[in-house]
Amino acid sequence: MTDAPRLVVTVDQVRCIGSGLCARTAPTDLLLAANGRAAPARSETGPSEELTEAAELCPVEAIAVRDAATGALVAPVW
Ligand code: SF4
Repeated sequence: MTDAPRLVVTVDQVRCIGSGLCARTAPTDLLLAANGRAAPARSETGPSEELTEAAELCPVEAIAVRDAATGALVAPVW
């Protein structure tokens, strides 16, 4: 069995407009911080449909999900 990749989520604080869409879509991985911008909920996470969807739904493409080991972009991918 292959272990699921460890992923790192980042949110571009300049791009984020604080819609909250990502935090509602993937509350395990993203939260709306006190500054009104989204932020990763934890330093590393695992793959989930919700996280991929959140990255793809962000209206300003502020979210990047990368493989923690390789840095390869995992989401969004259209
Ligand atoms: S969906 Fe995008 S713009 Fe909206 S809070 Fe999340 S990162 Fe910010």
